[in-house]
Amino acid sequence: MEKLLIVSGRVIDPAAGLDRVTDVLVVDGRIAGVGANLDAQGAERFDATGLVVAPGFIDMHVHLREPGFEHTETIETGSRAAAAGGFTSICAMPNTKPVNDSPTVTSYIIERALRTAVVNVFPIGAITKGSAGEELAAIGSMKKEGAVAISDDGRPVMNSSVMRRAMEFARAYDIPVIDHCEDLNLSAGGDMHEGLQSTRLGLRGIPGAAEDVMVARDIILSELTGAKFHVAHVSTRRSIDMVARAKAKGLHVTCEATPHHFALADEDMAPYDSNYKMKPPLRARCDTGAVIDGIAAGIVDAIATDHAPHAGSEKMQEFERCPFGIIGLETAVGLALEILVHTGRISLARMVELFTIGPARVLGIGRGRLSPGAPADITILDTDIGWTYDVNQSFSKSKNTPFDGRSFRGGPVATIVGGKLVWSRAAAGSPS
Ligand SMILES: [Zn+2]
Repeated sequence: MEKLLIVSGRVIDPAAGLDRVTDVLVVDGRIAGVGANLDAQGAERFDATGLVVAPGFIDMHVHLREPGFEHTETIETGSRAAAAGGFTSICAMPNTKPVNDSPTVTSYIIERALRTAVVNVFPIGAITKGSAGEELAAIGSMKKEGAVAISDDGRPVMNSSVMRRAMEFARAYDIPVIDHCEDLNLSAGGDMHEGLQSTRLGLRGIPGAAEDVMVARDIILSELTGAKFHVAHVSTRRSIDMVARAKAKGLHVTCEATPHHFALADEDMAPYDSNYKMKPPLRARCDTGAVIDGIAAGIVDAIATDHAPHAGSEKMQEFERCPFGIIGLETAVGLALEILVHTGRISLARMVELFTIGPARVLGIGRGRLSPGAPADITILDTDIGWTYDVNQSFSKSKNTPFDGRSFRGGPVATIVGGKLVWSRAAAGSPS
Protein backbone atom coordinates (compact mmCIF):
# COMPACT_ATOMS: atom_id res chain seq x y z
CA MET A 1 0.00 0.00 0.00
CA GLU A 2 1.27 3.46 -0.88
CA LYS A 3 0.17 6.13 1.56
CA LEU A 4 0.60 9.89 1.51
CA LEU A 5 -0.63 12.18 4.28
CA ILE A 6 -0.91 15.88 3.47
CA VAL A 7 -0.80 17.50 6.87
CA SER A 8 -2.29 20.72 8.25
CA GLY A 9 -3.13 22.49 5.00
CA ARG A 10 -6.11 24.79 4.47
CA VAL A 11 -8.23 22.28 2.58
CA ILE A 12 -10.65 23.96 0.16
CA ASP A 13 -13.11 21.65 -1.61
CA PRO A 14 -15.93 23.84 -2.96
CA ALA A 15 -18.01 20.85 -4.09
CA ALA A 16 -18.19 19.73 -0.47
CA GLY A 17 -18.48 23.23 0.98
CA LEU A 18 -15.23 22.55 2.85
CA ASP A 19 -12.72 25.25 3.83
CA ARG A 20 -10.72 24.48 6.96
CA VAL A 21 -7.28 23.46 8.19
CA THR A 22 -7.08 19.67 8.23
CA ASP A 23 -5.36 16.62 6.69
CA VAL A 24 -5.85 14.67 3.47
CA LEU A 25 -4.94 11.00 3.20
CA VAL A 26 -4.11 9.34 -0.11
CA VAL A 27 -3.93 5.57 -0.40
CA ASP A 28 -2.90 3.84 -3.62
CA GLY A 29 -3.62 6.84 -5.80
CA ARG A 30 -7.07 7.59 -4.40
CA ILE A 31 -8.43 9.94 -1.76
CA ALA A 32 -8.90 7.85 1.37
CA GLY A 33 -10.15 10.58 3.66
CA VAL A 34 -10.21 14.25 4.62
CA GLY A 35 -10.10 15.22 8.30
CA ALA A 36 -8.17 14.78 11.52
CA ASN A 37 -7.07 11.46 13.05
CA LEU A 38 -6.84 9.53 9.78
CA ASP A 39 -5.16 6.14 9.85
CA ALA A 40 -1.86 7.21 8.39
CA GLN A 41 0.44 4.56 9.70
CA GLY A 42 3.44 4.19 7.43
CA ALA A 43 2.39 7.15 5.29
CA GLU A 44 4.82 9.54 3.67
CA ARG A 45 4.09 13.05 5.00
CA PHE A 46 3.72 16.33 3.12
CA ASP A 47 3.68 19.28 5.47
CA ALA A 48 1.16 21.76 4.07
CA THR A 49 1.21 24.18 6.98
CA GLY A 50 0.40 27.64 5.63
CA LEU A 51 -0.55 26.20 2.21
CA VAL A 52 -3.85 25.64 0.42
CA VAL A 53 -4.77 22.05 -0.49
CA ALA A 54 -7.36 21.85 -3.28
CA PRO A 55 -8.77 19.30 -5.71
CA GLY A 56 -6.57 19.04 -8.79
CA PHE A 57 -7.06 21.99 -11.13
CA ILE A 58 -8.64 21.38 -14.54
CA ASP A 59 -7.93 23.41 -17.69
CA MET A 60 -10.69 22.63 -20.13
CA HIS A 61 -9.16 24.52 -23.08
CA VAL A 62 -5.63 23.57 -24.16
CA HIS A 63 -3.96 23.12 -27.55
CA LEU A 64 -1.38 20.33 -27.32
CA ARG A 65 -0.45 20.32 -31.05
CA GLU A 66 0.14 16.55 -31.17
CA PRO A 67 -0.36 14.89 -33.59
CA GLY A 68 0.94 17.06 -36.39
CA PHE A 69 2.62 20.13 -34.94
CA GLU A 70 5.10 18.58 -32.51
CA HIS A 71 7.67 21.33 -33.15
CA THR A 72 5.46 23.74 -31.15
CA GLU A 73 4.19 21.40 -28.40
CA THR A 74 3.72 17.73 -27.63
CA ILE A 75 1.36 15.98 -25.29
CA GLU A 76 4.35 15.44 -23.01
CA THR A 77 5.69 19.03 -22.97
CA GLY A 78 2.20 20.52 -22.72
CA SER A 79 1.40 18.23 -19.80
CA ARG A 80 4.61 19.27 -18.03
CA ALA A 81 3.71 22.94 -18.45
CA ALA A 82 0.25 22.09 -17.08
CA ALA A 83 1.74 20.41 -14.02
CA ALA A 84 3.99 23.42 -13.42
CA GLY A 85 0.88 25.58 -13.59
CA GLY A 86 -0.91 23.51 -10.95
CA PHE A 87 -3.14 21.61 -13.37
CA THR A 88 -3.79 17.88 -12.94
CA SER A 89 -6.20 17.54 -15.88
CA ILE A 90 -6.30 19.25 -19.25
CA CYS A 91 -8.61 19.02 -22.24
CA ALA A 92 -6.99 18.81 -25.66
CA MET A 93 -8.66 20.80 -28.44
CA PRO A 94 -9.07 18.87 -31.72
CA ASN A 95 -7.27 21.19 -34.18
CA THR A 96 -4.34 18.83 -34.62
CA LYS A 97 -3.18 17.25 -37.88
CA PRO A 98 -5.11 15.12 -38.50
CA VAL A 99 -8.01 16.85 -36.79
CA ASN A 100 -9.46 14.79 -33.93
CA ASP A 101 -12.69 14.04 -35.79
CA SER A 102 -12.71 10.24 -35.46
CA PRO A 103 -12.38 7.60 -32.73
CA THR A 104 -8.99 6.59 -34.19
CA VAL A 105 -7.47 10.01 -33.48
CA THR A 106 -9.24 10.23 -30.11
CA SER A 107 -7.78 6.91 -28.99
CA TYR A 108 -4.35 7.84 -30.38
CA ILE A 109 -4.32 10.96 -28.16
CA ILE A 110 -5.44 8.94 -25.14
CA GLU A 111 -2.76 6.30 -25.76
CA ARG A 112 -0.03 8.91 -26.23
CA ALA A 113 -1.14 10.68 -23.07
CA LEU A 114 -1.07 7.46 -21.05
CA ARG A 115 2.50 6.88 -22.20
CA THR A 116 3.96 10.41 -22.12
CA ALA A 117 1.80 12.86 -20.16
CA VAL A 118 2.32 13.65 -16.47
CA VAL A 119 -1.28 14.90 -16.05
CA ASN A 120 -4.66 13.55 -17.18
CA VAL A 121 -5.54 14.42 -20.76
CA PHE A 122 -9.18 14.49 -21.86
CA PRO A 123 -9.59 14.84 -25.64
CA ILE A 124 -12.21 17.10 -27.19
CA GLY A 125 -13.52 15.84 -30.53
CA ALA A 126 -14.31 17.97 -33.55
CA ILE A 127 -17.87 18.98 -34.41
CA THR A 128 -17.36 18.54 -38.16
CA LYS A 129 -15.04 16.43 -40.30
CA GLY A 130 -11.70 18.17 -40.56
CA SER A 131 -13.37 21.04 -38.70
CA ALA A 132 -14.40 22.14 -42.17
CA GLY A 133 -17.88 23.09 -41.00
CA GLU A 134 -19.78 20.87 -43.43
CA GLU A 135 -20.22 17.20 -42.48
CA LEU A 136 -20.64 16.11 -38.88
CA ALA A 137 -17.74 14.21 -37.30
CA ALA A 138 -18.17 10.80 -35.68
CA ILE A 139 -19.57 12.31 -32.47
CA GLY A 140 -21.00 9.18 -30.86
CA SER A 141 -17.98 6.97 -31.43
CA MET A 142 -15.53 9.69 -30.30
CA LYS A 143 -17.50 10.00 -27.09
CA LYS A 144 -17.36 6.22 -26.64
CA GLU A 145 -13.60 6.38 -27.11
CA GLY A 146 -13.24 9.06 -24.40
CA ALA A 147 -13.94 12.49 -25.91
CA VAL A 148 -15.51 14.71 -23.24
CA ALA A 149 -16.89 17.46 -25.49
CA ILE A 150 -17.05 18.52 -29.13
CA SER A 151 -15.72 21.75 -30.61
CA ASP A 152 -14.40 23.20 -33.86
CA ASP A 153 -12.36 25.66 -31.80
CA GLY A 154 -10.52 28.13 -33.98
CA ARG A 155 -12.70 27.25 -37.01
CA PRO A 156 -16.21 28.04 -35.82
CA VAL A 157 -19.16 26.33 -37.51
CA MET A 158 -20.60 29.13 -39.64
CA ASN A 159 -23.50 27.13 -41.06
CA SER A 160 -26.33 27.37 -38.53
CA SER A 161 -28.06 24.31 -39.94
CA VAL A 162 -24.93 22.20 -39.41
CA MET A 163 -24.65 23.57 -35.87
CA ARG A 164 -28.27 22.71 -35.22
CA ARG A 165 -27.73 19.09 -36.31
CA ALA A 166 -24.51 18.90 -34.28
CA MET A 167 -26.43 20.02 -31.21
CA GLU A 168 -29.16 17.45 -31.88
CA PHE A 169 -26.52 14.70 -31.93
CA ALA A 170 -24.77 16.19 -28.91
CA ARG A 171 -28.04 16.17 -27.01
CA ALA A 172 -28.64 12.52 -27.94
CA TYR A 173 -25.12 11.51 -26.85
CA ASP A 174 -25.18 13.84 -23.83
CA ILE A 175 -21.93 15.59 -24.72
CA PRO A 176 -21.40 19.37 -24.42
CA VAL A 177 -20.82 21.55 -27.48
CA ILE A 178 -18.03 24.08 -26.97
CA ASP A 179 -18.08 26.90 -29.49
CA HIS A 180 -15.38 29.39 -30.29
CA CYS A 181 -17.97 32.05 -31.03
CA GLU A 182 -16.81 34.15 -33.95
CA ASP A 183 -18.69 35.25 -37.05
CA LEU A 184 -15.90 34.88 -39.59
CA ASN A 185 -17.47 37.41 -41.94
CA LEU A 186 -17.54 40.07 -39.25
CA SER A 187 -14.01 39.33 -38.04
CA ALA A 188 -12.41 38.80 -41.47
CA GLY A 189 -9.07 40.53 -41.85
CA GLY A 190 -9.02 41.79 -38.27
CA ASP A 191 -5.93 41.56 -36.08
CA MET A 192 -7.06 43.14 -32.80
CA HIS A 193 -10.18 44.46 -31.08
CA GLU A 194 -12.02 47.09 -33.13
CA GLY A 195 -12.00 50.36 -31.24
CA LEU A 196 -9.99 53.43 -30.42
CA GLN A 197 -6.76 51.43 -30.02
CA SER A 198 -7.02 49.71 -33.40
CA THR A 199 -7.62 53.07 -35.02
CA ARG A 200 -4.61 54.58 -33.24
CA LEU A 201 -2.35 51.69 -34.25
CA GLY A 202 -3.72 51.52 -37.80
CA LEU A 203 -4.60 47.84 -37.44
CA ARG A 204 -7.77 46.20 -38.70
CA GLY A 205 -10.33 45.53 -36.01
CA ILE A 206 -12.41 42.56 -34.90
CA PRO A 207 -15.66 43.95 -33.50
CA GLY A 208 -17.12 42.58 -30.29
CA ALA A 209 -20.21 41.87 -32.39
CA ALA A 210 -18.32 39.06 -34.18
CA GLU A 211 -18.49 37.15 -30.89
CA ASP A 212 -21.90 38.38 -29.76
CA VAL A 213 -23.89 37.29 -32.80
CA MET A 214 -22.56 33.73 -32.56
CA VAL A 215 -23.21 33.53 -28.82
CA ALA A 216 -26.78 34.66 -29.55
CA ARG A 217 -27.21 32.10 -32.34
CA ASP A 218 -25.86 29.25 -30.27
CA ILE A 219 -28.01 30.11 -27.25
CA ILE A 220 -31.04 30.04 -29.54
CA LEU A 221 -29.98 26.69 -31.02
CA SER A 222 -29.27 25.29 -27.58
CA GLU A 223 -32.80 26.24 -26.51
CA LEU A 224 -34.19 24.67 -29.69
CA THR A 225 -32.30 21.38 -29.34
CA GLY A 226 -31.81 21.05 -25.59
CA ALA A 227 -28.04 20.61 -26.11
CA LYS A 228 -25.47 21.70 -23.54
CA PHE A 229 -23.74 24.72 -25.04
CA HIS A 230 -20.51 26.15 -23.63
CA VAL A 231 -19.03 29.48 -24.74
CA ALA A 232 -15.24 29.22 -25.06
CA HIS A 233 -13.14 32.20 -23.94
CA VAL A 234 -15.98 34.70 -23.45
CA SER A 235 -14.62 38.22 -23.91
CA THR A 236 -17.37 40.81 -24.32
CA ARG A 237 -19.83 42.52 -22.01
CA ARG A 238 -22.77 41.66 -24.27
CA SER A 239 -21.88 37.95 -24.44
CA ILE A 240 -21.68 37.79 -20.64
CA ASP A 241 -25.11 39.45 -20.44
CA MET A 242 -26.60 36.92 -22.85
CA VAL A 243 -25.14 33.97 -20.94
CA ALA A 244 -26.52 35.44 -17.70
CA ARG A 245 -30.00 35.71 -19.20
CA ALA A 246 -29.82 32.19 -20.68
CA LYS A 247 -28.86 30.81 -17.27
CA ALA A 248 -31.67 32.71 -15.60
CA LYS A 249 -34.04 31.05 -18.05
CA GLY A 250 -32.71 27.65 -17.04
CA LEU A 251 -31.02 26.84 -20.37
CA HIS A 252 -28.01 24.50 -20.52
CA VAL A 253 -25.58 27.34 -21.24
CA THR A 254 -22.17 27.75 -19.60
CA CYS A 255 -19.02 29.74 -20.30
CA GLU A 256 -15.33 30.01 -19.52
CA ALA A 257 -13.01 33.01 -19.27
CA THR A 258 -9.26 33.13 -19.91
CA PRO A 259 -6.76 34.83 -17.61
CA HIS A 260 -5.63 37.15 -20.42
CA HIS A 261 -9.17 38.39 -20.96
CA PHE A 262 -9.56 39.41 -17.32
CA ALA A 263 -5.95 40.59 -16.88
CA LEU A 264 -5.44 42.70 -20.00
CA ALA A 265 -7.34 45.14 -22.20
CA ASP A 266 -6.43 46.32 -25.71
CA GLU A 267 -4.86 49.47 -24.28
CA ASP A 268 -2.37 47.31 -22.33
CA MET A 269 -0.91 45.89 -25.54
CA ALA A 270 2.71 46.54 -26.36
CA PRO A 271 2.13 47.99 -29.84
CA TYR A 272 2.65 45.48 -32.67
CA ASP A 273 3.91 42.82 -30.23
CA SER A 274 2.55 39.48 -31.44
CA ASN A 275 2.52 38.13 -27.88
CA TYR A 276 -0.64 40.20 -27.48
CA LYS A 277 -2.34 38.76 -30.54
CA MET A 278 -5.04 36.20 -29.86
CA LYS A 279 -8.65 35.33 -30.66
CA PRO A 280 -10.86 36.65 -29.32
CA PRO A 281 -8.64 39.72 -29.08
CA LEU A 282 -7.94 41.68 -25.91
CA ARG A 283 -11.06 43.82 -25.64
CA ALA A 284 -11.86 47.27 -24.31
CA ARG A 285 -11.45 47.98 -20.59
CA CYS A 286 -15.23 47.80 -20.05
CA ASP A 287 -15.26 44.26 -21.47
CA THR A 288 -12.40 43.21 -19.19
CA GLY A 289 -14.43 44.60 -16.30
CA ALA A 290 -17.51 42.71 -17.46
CA VAL A 291 -15.56 39.43 -17.53
CA ILE A 292 -14.41 40.05 -13.95
CA ASP A 293 -17.96 41.01 -12.90
CA GLY A 294 -19.24 37.82 -14.59
CA ILE A 295 -16.72 35.74 -12.67
CA ALA A 296 -17.68 37.42 -9.39
CA ALA A 297 -21.43 37.07 -10.08
CA GLY A 298 -21.22 33.33 -10.79
CA ILE A 299 -22.03 33.65 -14.51
CA VAL A 300 -18.62 32.32 -15.58
CA ASP A 301 -18.27 28.59 -14.84
CA ALA A 302 -14.57 28.02 -15.41
CA ILE A 303 -11.22 29.68 -15.91
CA ALA A 304 -9.51 28.11 -18.94
CA THR A 305 -6.24 29.17 -20.52
CA ASP A 306 -6.67 28.58 -24.28
CA HIS A 307 -2.95 27.64 -24.12
CA ALA A 308 -1.97 28.03 -27.79
CA PRO A 309 1.71 27.37 -28.51
CA HIS A 310 3.28 28.74 -31.69
CA ALA A 311 6.87 28.48 -32.87
CA GLY A 312 9.05 31.55 -32.39
CA SER A 313 9.57 31.84 -36.13
CA GLU A 314 5.82 32.10 -36.67
CA LYS A 315 5.26 34.64 -33.92
CA MET A 316 8.30 36.73 -35.02
CA GLN A 317 6.58 37.78 -38.21
CA GLU A 318 4.97 41.19 -38.48
CA PHE A 319 1.79 41.61 -36.44
CA GLU A 320 -0.63 41.25 -39.34
CA ARG A 321 0.96 37.99 -40.52
CA CYS A 322 1.61 36.09 -37.30
CA PRO A 323 -0.85 33.50 -35.94
CA PHE A 324 -3.31 34.11 -33.10
CA GLY A 325 -2.77 32.68 -29.62
CA ILE A 326 -0.56 32.66 -26.53
CA ILE A 327 0.60 30.04 -24.04
CA GLY A 328 -0.97 30.26 -20.61
CA LEU A 329 -0.71 27.14 -18.46
CA GLU A 330 2.05 28.34 -16.14
CA THR A 331 0.66 31.84 -15.45
CA ALA A 332 -3.08 31.17 -15.04
CA VAL A 333 -3.19 30.61 -11.30
CA GLY A 334 -0.84 33.51 -10.55
CA LEU A 335 -3.01 35.85 -12.64
CA ALA A 336 -6.24 34.62 -11.04
CA LEU A 337 -4.82 35.21 -7.57
CA GLU A 338 -3.49 38.64 -8.51
CA ILE A 339 -6.45 40.02 -10.45
CA LEU A 340 -9.37 38.26 -8.73
CA VAL A 341 -8.46 37.15 -5.22
CA HIS A 342 -5.88 39.59 -3.85
CA THR A 343 -8.06 42.47 -5.04
CA GLY A 344 -11.00 41.07 -3.06
CA ARG A 345 -13.20 40.56 -6.13
CA ILE A 346 -13.74 36.87 -5.34
CA SER A 347 -12.92 34.55 -2.47
CA LEU A 348 -10.17 31.98 -2.66
CA ALA A 349 -12.84 29.25 -2.49
CA ARG A 350 -14.58 30.74 -5.54
CA MET A 351 -11.28 30.77 -7.43
CA VAL A 352 -10.74 27.10 -6.57
CA GLU A 353 -14.27 26.36 -7.78
CA LEU A 354 -13.52 27.99 -11.16
CA PHE A 355 -10.50 25.70 -11.58
CA THR A 356 -12.07 22.48 -10.26
CA ILE A 357 -15.73 21.56 -9.88
CA GLY A 358 -16.75 24.38 -12.26
CA PRO A 359 -15.14 22.87 -15.37
CA ALA A 360 -15.78 19.30 -14.12
CA ARG A 361 -19.52 20.02 -14.05
CA VAL A 362 -19.47 21.57 -17.54
CA LEU A 363 -17.77 18.45 -18.90
CA GLY A 364 -19.55 15.91 -16.75
CA ILE A 365 -16.26 14.31 -15.67
CA GLY A 366 -15.92 12.86 -12.19
CA ARG A 367 -13.06 15.11 -11.14
CA GLY A 368 -12.63 18.35 -9.25
CA ARG A 369 -13.43 17.16 -5.72
CA LEU A 370 -11.65 15.48 -2.82
CA SER A 371 -14.29 12.84 -2.08
CA PRO A 372 -13.17 9.45 -0.74
CA GLY A 373 -12.51 7.01 -3.57
CA ALA A 374 -11.87 9.76 -6.13
CA PRO A 375 -8.54 9.80 -8.00
CA ALA A 376 -6.00 11.63 -5.81
CA ASP A 377 -5.54 14.68 -8.04
CA ILE A 378 -4.47 17.51 -5.75
CA THR A 379 -3.17 21.03 -6.29
CA ILE A 380 -1.26 22.73 -3.51
CA LEU A 381 -0.96 26.53 -3.52
CA ASP A 382 0.98 29.14 -1.63
CA THR A 383 -1.10 32.30 -1.92
CA ASP A 384 1.76 34.56 -0.82
CA ILE A 385 4.89 33.17 -2.42
CA GLY A 386 6.68 35.71 -4.60
CA TRP A 387 7.93 34.51 -7.97
CA THR A 388 8.74 35.86 -11.40
CA TYR A 389 7.76 34.14 -14.65
CA ASP A 390 10.73 33.45 -16.89
CA VAL A 391 9.45 31.97 -20.15
CA ASN A 392 12.91 30.61 -20.96
CA GLN A 393 12.41 28.23 -18.02
CA SER A 394 8.99 27.18 -19.34
CA PHE A 395 8.19 23.52 -19.86
CA SER A 396 6.27 24.48 -23.00
CA LYS A 397 8.09 24.21 -26.30
CA SER A 398 6.77 27.64 -27.26
CA LYS A 399 7.48 31.00 -25.68
CA ASN A 400 4.64 33.18 -26.92
CA THR A 401 3.38 34.98 -23.82
CA PRO A 402 2.84 38.60 -22.85
CA PHE A 403 3.59 37.70 -19.22
CA ASP A 404 7.33 36.98 -19.47
CA GLY A 405 9.17 38.73 -16.64
CA ARG A 406 5.98 39.45 -14.68
CA SER A 407 6.22 39.08 -10.91
CA PHE A 408 3.47 37.31 -9.03
CA ARG A 409 2.32 36.93 -5.45
CA GLY A 410 1.03 33.41 -4.98
CA GLY A 411 0.91 30.35 -7.20
CA PRO A 412 1.00 26.57 -7.25
CA VAL A 413 3.76 24.88 -5.25
CA ALA A 414 2.98 21.20 -5.81
CA THR A 415 0.91 19.15 -8.25
CA ILE A 416 -0.20 15.62 -7.40
CA VAL A 417 -1.78 13.36 -10.04
CA GLY A 418 -3.21 10.00 -9.02
CA GLY A 419 -1.32 10.25 -5.73
CA LYS A 420 2.05 10.99 -7.37
CA LEU A 421 3.92 14.26 -7.03
CA VAL A 422 4.47 15.28 -10.67
CA TRP A 423 5.80 18.79 -10.05
CA SER A 424 6.88 20.89 -7.12
CA ARG A 425 8.23 24.40 -7.04
CA ALA A 426 10.87 23.36 -4.53
CA ALA A 427 12.21 20.43 -6.53
CA ALA A 428 11.66 21.36 -10.15
CA GLY A 429 13.41 23.83 -12.32
CA SER A 430 10.41 25.97 -11.67
CA PRO A 431 10.03 29.41 -13.18
CA SER A 432 10.76 31.24 -9.94
ZN1 LIG B 1 -10.78 29.46 -29.57
